[in-house]
Amino acid sequence: MARTSRIKHYHAPGRVNLIGEHTDYNGGFVMPIAIAMGTDIRASEVKKPVLHLTSAQYPGEMIFPLEAIPSMKKTGAWVDYVLGVAKEVAALGVELRPMKLEVSSTVPTGSGLSSSAALEVSSALALLDGWELTKLDLAKLCQRAERNFVGMPCGIMDQYASVHGEEHKAILLDCRSNTHQLVPIPAGAEVVVSNTMVKHELGSSAYRERVAQCAEALSHFPGRQALRDVTLGELERAAAGIAEIPLARARHVILEDLRVENFLTAAQQGDLETMGRLMVESHRSLQHDYEVSCEELDSMVDAALTIEGVYGSRMTGGGFGGCTVSLVAPEAVERFEKELAAKYEAKHGLHPAIYRCTPSAGARRVA
Ligand code: ADP
Ligand code: MG
Repeated sequence: MARTSRIKHYHAPGRVNLIGEHTDYNGGFVMPIAIAMGTDIRASEVKKPVLHLTSAQYPGEMIFPLEAIPSMKKTGAWVDYVLGVAKEVAALGVELRPMKLEVSSTVPTGSGLSSSAALEVSSALALLDGWELTKLDLAKLCQRAERNFVGMPCGIMDQYASVHGEEHKAILLDCRSNTHQLVPIPAGAEVVVSNTMVKHELGSSAYRERVAQCAEALSHFPGRQALRDVTLGELERAAAGIAEIPLARARHVILEDLRVENFLTAAQQGDLETMGRLMVESHRSLQHDYEVSCEELDSMVDAALTIEGVYGSRMTGGGFGGCTVSLVAPEAVERFEKELAAKYEAKHGLHPAIYRCTPSAGARRVA
């Protein structure tokens, strides 16, 4: 009988965050959905003791001796996401096996739909090769890879959503207890994501700066672990002693946590008007207090809000480009796609990619 080398196929979804932005690393609440766009990895055995990596989205291939991986430094290329995961897998005591991993993804990279977590989680499934971790430990392993190896001080949301996604449901995640509750999206609205097609370079340095500014605001509240522990009243009473910028950042975080809570109640009651209003408030807060929006995101949200059948719209993800998320009545989606594209293109000369997103299942082995 002919011996065929067996290819194992893994899939991990991207995610779109409905509300709760920049709250995860402040111990707060977020509400993402896993999406149908995701990253696929086909893993096959190789003879030499190496990790061989290719991606349909990037030219070339890279080969790393397995024995070198635990002490590797980051390369600055896309493979860092996989190498970071490999290092974390090795740190668990799991033996790295000789493998070729062929990556291909439908998540646009760097657009706030978390292609990075989709890559990390699909890589982790391949590298663990059947080694069982709980879903939470899998998400945390991938978060450690991004924080410790890639060097992005991210919260847990992206990896958690990619691992825990469920069809038809949003995930209300408490980023302190790392537990979640599934939230039905009311019938009568679709989640539509629109890509500004821009990514401003200051994104990752600004992210680090925001993390530091939140820590600065928190330092005015001794004994509190995270801004999640500070109430709006407490912030107001301490406001005179806090510099203007950290104060505005903290105000965003505290109010955004409250918005997530109210969004949950509205979703449970099927109150699309309130859900939409909270999304717009979230955007304005990210625009003015957290200052992570940009001209393209603002004009895309503003254009969305002029279209009939739109309940709400906001930037989603870290900011400085990437995507907006809108809640749109199903019968209005087609018109929304046309009108938004025309308005955005007229202003910015770029044709936005628009995706209808249904909540989808989390990471898994496919074959
Ligand atoms: P986002 O997670 O919002 O898409 P990030 O900047 O966090 O944006 O992650 C994008 C990076 O992840 C890319 O620059 C690339 O290094 C890596 N990446 C994502 N998807 C792929 C892919 N399919 N192939 C190779 N690298 C990828
Ligand atoms: Mg990312």
